[in-house]
Amino acid sequence: MRICVLGAGTMGHGIAQVSAMAGHDVAMRDIDEDVLADGLDAIADNLQGGVDRDKVTPDEKEATLDRIATTTDLDAAAADADLVVEAVPESMDLKQSTFEDVEAVVDDDAIVASNTSSLSVTEIASVLDDPSRAVGLHFFNPVHIMGLVEVVVPEQASERTVRFATDFAEDLDKEAVVVRDSAGFATSRLGVTLGVEAMRMVEEGVASPRDIDTAMELGYNHPMGPIELGDVVGLDVRLDILEHLREELGERFKPPQSLRRKVRAGKLGKKTGEGFYVWEDGEIVGVSEDAAAVGQGDRDDEEGPIWE
Ligand code: NAD
Repeated sequence: MRICVLGAGTMGHGIAQVSAMAGHDVAMRDIDEDVLADGLDAIADNLQGGVDRDKVTPDEKEATLDRIATTTDLDAAAADADLVVEAVPESMDLKQSTFEDVEAVVDDDAIVASNTSSLSVTEIASVLDDPSRAVGLHFFNPVHIMGLVEVVVPEQASERTVRFATDFAEDLDKEAVVVRDSAGFATSRLGVTLGVEAMRMVEEGVASPRDIDTAMELGYNHPMGPIELGDVVGLDVRLDILEHLREELGERFKPPQSLRRKVRAGKLGKKTGEGFYVWEDGEIVGVSEDAAAVGQGDRDDEEGPIWE
């Protein structure tokens, strides 16, 4: 098949890579030449990593790279595509205008997918003349490693579209879960719930960030605890998702004060060197002082120990 990927950033180049690895011809389009070049370099590096670990042969690496063309021209990228996947920034206006531009150039039976992590796919697709061709294909980062794709089904999607999306995800060797288009889909809604409760527990002094994470890692076999995961995803991203879920689903998604304070202070987690943890060279080297003090600082000194 011919796959067009719009956006060559974190997600776009990953989607291009796994599509090409599955044998599809890929056109990767970005508005920025430098991002296209960086995206292609990142794909080559990932593939080389696979070669070094004996997971990919040198021939597979070269054949995969040969199947990827890059361009800044939307018409050239999308005109012959069977499937267009957009991975442009998370803005409703941008995604809607991207869908409109795509529909103007693709064939009548082309499927148009969004990799949005939180926006309503139904709303994005509402600008199309034929919204039955639209679907959400929610990949996870890093795309070449993560085994899941959430197939998000908007109100107007046809059965053919949903089947096409599910088959495509499975063809990429991913497990597909089919989720009705609703706030936070299945993944973000549950993941954020755990993260938010963990932050409230830090605020209340129930346990330290490290002990909460260790509890979930060893007690529940999570590969990473909820506080660390928030730092890795980015606390600003977590806050945005919570605000959206609160608007759509109610006060149980109200962002904790500690999260707001961190974001206001620019302590966004791993990417800025500090969130609930302190990070150096991508590794945790300590617990953020204010994370350790949250809860204690909010309490009256006359109170006894917090667990009494
Ligand atoms: P990113 O900022 O890394 O990449 C977006 C790219 O889109 C940029 O390179 C930008 O130049 C390009 N772009 C902007 N307008 C464009 C246009 N009109 N046509 C083509 N390219 C255009 O963003 P990202 O992290 O890859 O996120 C992309 C989408 O994927 C968002 O909807 C995001 O919510 C979703 N998502 C992100 C993650 C993640 O972990 N980063 C995970 C799942 C889903």
